[in-house]
Amino acid sequence: VSTWSAVPAGPPDPILGVTEAFKADKDPRKINLGVGAYRDEQGKPYILPSVKKAEELVRAANPDKEYLPITGLPEFTKNAALLAYGADSQPIKQGTVAVTQSISGTGALRIGGAFLARHYPHAKAIYLPSPTWGNHIPLFRDSGLEVRHYKYFNKETVGLDFEGLKADLKAAQEHSIVLLHACAHNPTGIDPTPEQWREISDIVKEKKLFPFFDMAYQGFASGSTTKDAFAVRHFVSEGHQIALAQSFAKNMGLYGERVGAFSLTTADPEEKARVDSQLKIVIRPMYSNPPIHGARIANAILSSSELYGQWETEVKGMADRIISMREKLYNMLQKDLSTPGEWGHIKSQIGMFSFTGLTPPQTKALAEKAHVYMTADGRISMAGLNSGNIEYFAQSVDKAVR
Ligand code: PMP
Repeated sequence: VSTWSAVPAGPPDPILGVTEAFKADKDPRKINLGVGAYRDEQGKPYILPSVKKAEELVRAANPDKEYLPITGLPEFTKNAALLAYGADSQPIKQGTVAVTQSISGTGALRIGGAFLARHYPHAKAIYLPSPTWGNHIPLFRDSGLEVRHYKYFNKETVGLDFEGLKADLKAAQEHSIVLLHACAHNPTGIDPTPEQWREISDIVKEKKLFPFFDMAYQGFASGSTTKDAFAVRHFVSEGHQIALAQSFAKNMGLYGERVGAFSLTTADPEEKARVDSQLKIVIRPMYSNPPIHGARIANAILSSSELYGQWETEVKGMADRIISMREKLYNMLQKDLSTPGEWGHIKSQIGMFSFTGLTPPQTKALAEKAHVYMTADGRISMAGLNSGNIEYFAQSVDKAVR
């Protein structure tokens, strides 16, 4: 009898399952709106020209392939922290950000989960928004934290349930951890306004909660890296100590290169040194040290004012294309087709995803009858739409809801 005969088959990944169904479909009109990766106007993966240039610079330097230190490429982590916190933030000026390179955003979250599980001195419980990125739940559970939830989404308004959010955070156990999507909330595409962020910051302070920011989309949401960092920078300026997971998958299109960073703000350089030493102890037995190539590319961009400027323009280009798709889709549904329902949320949502409000039976009908694929919760990746398929998509949605 095989050693593994009792291993039960697990359920397929809900998002990758959508891609499988899409691939099997032979209809030429088929559209895949499941995957959270940027696509250009031709529906193709996009390598940023600034990334191509950076890669050429890296190649031209003919660098070796030696191991990185446990916490990664030092210039990269320094520049990543600078991008997130801003040059005039106190912890940057005082040199008190403990930062490590990570295996993209997922790895940053996992390092954070493991560090908190080991060293957080209070309740090892983390509150996640409901809904949240599906991977947050098993990730923090497997890190050894107790996963709890706070209200986020209002089905009726297809908007933020701000009253529910505030009530849940006020009722949360004191000193527990709260996960906040820094911008471009996944899956809803709904972010708090700056005014609402200020209120959230006050509640977090009042309840002595520990804020853990997941910033997977800096620059990709609004087109401005500064604007998208508002929440993180506001919390820091309010004196919160924070944890931060950064990803360069979306904003630099470095998905498969796995470039990210995890950081904690500390009280002083001496405390930072102690935290740094423990980050290494968490990371060393996990994967020893991170991959080098993607960090070199990202650092080439972050460390050159010329490439940085070009990159900012290109991130804005991606954000603007998505925003223009939102505008077009809204106009088609609300105005041209008079599709039943209110579609304003398509325009007001931000980032890669839109929560359409389509129901599971409607998403099923869209796949079966129109060859349009999305997750069952009605989430669509806006980046999968382009001028070649948006009209067909709008007509298909129109039929599905009538
Ligand atoms: N957090 C959120 C909210 C995300 O949407 C994603 C990407 N889907 C990630 C983290 C992590 O992505 P990656 O590991 O590719 O950086």
